[in-house]
Amino acid sequence: MISEKMRPLVANNSVIRQMFEEGQKMAAQFGAENVFDFSLGNPNVPAPKEVNEAIIDIVNNVNPVKVHGYMSNAGFPETRKAVADNLNRRFGTSFDVNNIIMTVGAASGLNVILKTMINPGDEVICFAPYFVEYGNYIRNYDGVPVVISANPEGNFMPRFDELREKISPKTKALIINNPNNPTGVIYPESVIKELASLLEEKQKEFGTIIYLISDEPYRELAYGKREVPYLTKFYANTIVGYSYSKSLSLPGERIGYVVIPSESDGAQEFIEAATIANRISGSVNAPSLMQLVIERCVDAKCEVEYYEKNGRRLYDALTEMGFECVEPQGAFYLWVKSPVPDEKEFVAKGKEFNILMVPGSSFAGPGYVRLSYCVSYEQIERSLPKFAELAKCYF
Ligand code: PLP
Repeated sequence: MISEKMRPLVANNSVIRQMFEEGQKMAAQFGAENVFDFSLGNPNVPAPKEVNEAIIDIVNNVNPVKVHGYMSNAGFPETRKAVADNLNRRFGTSFDVNNIIMTVGAASGLNVILKTMINPGDEVICFAPYFVEYGNYIRNYDGVPVVISANPEGNFMPRFDELREKISPKTKALIINNPNNPTGVIYPESVIKELASLLEEKQKEFGTIIYLISDEPYRELAYGKREVPYLTKFYANTIVGYSYSKSLSLPGERIGYVVIPSESDGAQEFIEAATIANRISGSVNAPSLMQLVIERCVDAKCEVEYYEKNGRRLYDALTEMGFECVEPQGAFYLWVKSPVPDEKEFVAKGKEFNILMVPGSSFAGPGYVRLSYCVSYEQIERSLPKFAELAKCYF
């Protein structure tokens, strides 16, 4: 028999995954070109050439015992140094090898971070709408998610009035995700500064440590000249969880890292504990081949313009048709207001036109839907007449 803890998880199995599977079935029935699947955040830009070249070269020319072997649970020191140097060059930070732990993507990184810091009953604040798995990750360690409601009138920036009310002596951490899944907005420096100053104030008031967890799989996907502030520079108790899944189009390879800055409270103990958490979470260490690839390709560029062009086309077209959308600033998601109060009804209507969208309630954001536009530009073009028909049902 399965555990009581698993029971609700089975009952609420990921809507996004279910839609993805439904999309596959629809593609078999109607032909792939006639199904407009905007459900899953699986990058469609191929991994950069140098990544593939590095894989081949490493497999052919590096000692196979090293390539395929166990290493320190925190990862290869050379890879961690390459990551630290890359961050220092770009953000003026001063990390070294000890501040970096290689992880099995951001999902595992977040679990390592939470496992390291959470005592049962500790509260972790999330800003709605948020990545659906945060709640599961927090509950993995018997933490309690506390949700700050969405702020549609403020372009989905954090609601500071509500945050001030809900932050308490039990608050262990806040998770922020910038650029944001699912809204596609970027929190600018002014918002980060306000957040940092509120957290400093509350740490003093309660005499506690409140961590800011920065979940950063979309850091490199910022459009135009927009900057994504590097949070450790604004708030010492920041722990970063990064991933190459989206920036280098490697989601199946499972590679990322955690940054624990030396200036954070109890840094050395946290680093040691997080290294153990990495091991005993079952990951043991991040994939060795991918670590060697990252060491060589740490400066590889993401084709952000591709997603920007897709986002612009979809936003302009849907807005023109009468839909209310949040203008994309980064990541690869369009957050669209449902024309009817129950967005699940809108999602069901979309399916009649072979359009797959994810209901916002899967992100604690009811009344909206998310469109993942990490698809070909041609798919977007082909989908527009269908969206126009869908729009005619409402406007
Ligand atoms: N955090 C957010 C906001 C995400 O959207 C995702 C994946 O979609 C993850 C974390 C997990 O990413 P990874 O593939 O690196 O585990």
